[in-house]
Amino acid sequence: MILFGKTFIAFWSEIVIAIFQFRFFSVEPHVTKIPISYLVCMIVLVNRYLFRRRFVGLAFWPFVFVGNPMLKRDLVFLNHERIHLRQQLELLIVFFYVWYGIEFLCRWISIGNWYKAYRNISFEREAYRNEKDLRYCKKRSFWAFLAFC
Ligand SMILES: [Zn+2]
Repeated sequence: MILFGKTFIAFWSEIVIAIFQFRFFSVEPHVTKIPISYLVCMIVLVNRYLFRRRFVGLAFWPFVFVGNPMLKRDLVFLNHERIHLRQQLELLIVFFYVWYGIEFLCRWISIGNWYKAYRNISFEREAYRNEKDLRYCKKRSFWAFLAFC
């Protein structure tokens, strides 16, 4: 068990280090080339134990968990997760996950393909469609994901 076994210290020490790395990352304008405030409410945590297979990251406001440290500098990936953080806030976080789970199940049953069902969830449609637009969250309207249902 990761949380209670021999790797306990390594597991949590990596998270603490990641928090400090994020601070350095967010104050390097030549790296980000976008306003510091853009990433300020997003805390990126790296833990290679959490993601080994299909997923590369998970947004859970105000955190973004990633398995690969390189993703901390991937602005398109960060923008994708930031869109999810906005969606979560707008649905008080818990309703985001309820909606996400129900919509995933409905689409999985109708499409019959796990990955296609995931990509067609309205939250993911909005995020994938706009992840390359780094200013999207600035101009995004409230509950914009409804346009992708
Ligand atoms: Zn996503």
